[in-house]
Amino acid sequence: MILPKTNRLTSEQLAEITAIVCEFGCKIQPIVGAVRTIYAIVGDEREELMINRLEGLAFVDRIDRIQSPFKLMDKRSDLATHRIKAGGVTLGEELFVIAGACTIDPKNPNYFYETAAAVKEAGAHVLRGGVWKPRTNPYTFQGDVKSLYILMEASRRTGLPVDTEVMEDAHIKLALDAGVHSLQIGARNALNYSLLRSVGRAIAERATVVLLKRSIHMGPLNEFISAAEYIAAFGNPNVILCPRGTTPTLDGYRNHPDESITPLLKEKTWAPVVVDPSHSVGKAAYVPAAALAAVAYGADGLCIESHVDPSKGIGDDPKQAITPDVLAKTIRHAKQLWALSRGA
Ligand code: PEP
Ligand code: MN
Repeated sequence: MILPKTNRLTSEQLAEITAIVCEFGCKIQPIVGAVRTIYAIVGDEREELMINRLEGLAFVDRIDRIQSPFKLMDKRSDLATHRIKAGGVTLGEELFVIAGACTIDPKNPNYFYETAAAVKEAGAHVLRGGVWKPRTNPYTFQGDVKSLYILMEASRRTGLPVDTEVMEDAHIKLALDAGVHSLQIGARNALNYSLLRSVGRAIAERATVVLLKRSIHMGPLNEFISAAEYIAAFGNPNVILCPRGTTPTLDGYRNHPDESITPLLKEKTWAPVVVDPSHSVGKAAYVPAAALAAVAYGADGLCIESHVDPSKGIGDDPKQAITPDVLAKTIRHAKQLWALSRGA
């Protein structure tokens, strides 16, 4: 729908927009109102170049699109009935929990093995553990491929599927070859379209799930859903959206908590929403409340950093990991809230 700056277009202006949409196989249908006339685009209005050219015209105020730019992730797409299963849970049917260390310490694997057993006991369905880490400071620990073995050994010992972040093509191959069940795209890479394509291509023929974090820099929700569309476009739509806080930060928190976007996402996409309160607030003491807020907003699940002894952890764990006891209590409360808010 084209909304002009004036109450109606001149015949020259109408001819100009008609010529543009004709190039893309569309037509213009004026809708005459008492005061204003607006101009419907009849045909497939998803063509980005056509919209850009129309938006570039000085006499056009704005274009309101009726069709969604998401062919697969849109709530009205054929995939709307698709359900993602992970760790024995069908997302949307019961509270889904991913938990574990931020970063696996390759020098002290027992912390991870103990954490894995403890988060399972606390009620987690998927075990997380960072093998490769995106670090702000290039001189800090960047991860170690040896941790991939520890991750898979913890999976074998507990029977839990595992989630780890991949940042480049080599990580994707190593993780999939090792049998990692869920690939995480981190907040720093959620706008890295070539990585999103690589992940989509690599998981196309598999049951792998992708946990797509919201980029620190994402604004409009369409940017987030478009990133998921990049992955799903290759054939595997098992993409979970993970709000984890954005910048600028809210003073006192590590990021600006964004669990409140959950209902807005759910109006646009069928994709499950699993909120990460750990990176959002960035401090263990605030994590339980942020987790419950996410469930109150309608999140399908939570991704929480937990460690048997946070003070001995590496990466984010000393600051933001909660102990398995606190995790167990948070999961218990979150399940009660789930039952309350979903009327069970
Ligand atoms: C993480 O999960 O440890 C991580 C680095 O997350 P994010 O990409 O959200 O910062
Ligand atoms: Mn972390």
